[in-house]
Amino acid sequence: MPPYAFFDGKFVPLAKAKVGVMTHAFNYGTACFEGIRGNWNKEQGQMYIFRMKEHYKRLLESCEVLKIELPYSIDEMCSLSLELVQRCGFREDTYIRPMAYKKTEQVGVRLHNLEPGFLMFATPFGAYLDIEKGARCCIASWRRVNSSMIPTRAKINGIYVNSALAKTEAFEKGFDEAIFLTQDGHVCEGSGENIFLVIDGKLVTPPVSDDILIGITRDTIMKLAKKEFGIDTVERSIDPNELFTADECFMTGTAAHVTPIIEIDHRKVGKGSIGKTTKQLQAMYFDVIMGKKKKYMSWCAPVYAK
Ligand code: PMP
Repeated sequence: MPPYAFFDGKFVPLAKAKVGVMTHAFNYGTACFEGIRGNWNKEQGQMYIFRMKEHYKRLLESCEVLKIELPYSIDEMCSLSLELVQRCGFREDTYIRPMAYKKTEQVGVRLHNLEPGFLMFATPFGAYLDIEKGARCCIASWRRVNSSMIPTRAKINGIYVNSALAKTEAFEKGFDEAIFLTQDGHVCEGSGENIFLVIDGKLVTPPVSDDILIGITRDTIMKLAKKEFGIDTVERSIDPNELFTADECFMTGTAAHVTPIIEIDHRKVGKGSIGKTTKQLQAMYFDVIMGKKKKYMSWCAPVYAK
């Protein structure tokens, strides 16, 4: 089966889904996107797409920021995603990338009077960071874009230059991932992940007002921590020096799942290996996203008919 894309209102072979060089979004970053995972459950021969509705709700919010009016509802985009993966026939972990963009082929930086476009593709996608060993991180010298510059709770393509700068800085310095600080010096998030600390048996994570992307995995972990383990999450601004003294630290994201942070700027976090709470949450999270927990099946959409 050749890979397919949904492009200009229909399914086409991926190789046929092309945009012109004058496309507005390509020139000015005027697009927004989502990253959604389909998790392959080998025993069941089934793939479950995780929390699709929440992703499409966030996409529509990003569209509002960019003044993109899509002709699709959340439910329609969910159905399209299922059909896309069915057509591709992937039987391994998969990443689905819907994108809403300014498709007019015209020069002139603005948001108004531009045609909306929508596309979606899917690609096999395994681990993003080492979820077992954990990630070695640095604090980025780049600060996270501030909401007064571009609304950070929208997943806007152009913002990702900020993330790319930090990620490559980390890579070139020999680290796995970067941790952004906000403009006023508080801990913000990774280049594509939210961040959690474990302090005195509680989870601590930056509040939504600290310029984070409001992660769906972040929400999942807060809910699982409370419901399954009775662990509360405190959403508050975090001082960078707390990173060095926290008992445990981990990152969450659709790509990164739950990745332990074992080292920050050459200092060990906790014992320098995955911590107890992180391990517990990570194991529960994987069971949930693989469709192994009845209680959370409303978050998992099966791709293949059984
Ligand atoms: N922050 C940023 C900047 C991201 O790109 C992502 C990935 N979408 C996240 C946090 C985590 O969000 P989610 O859990 O919804 O994937």
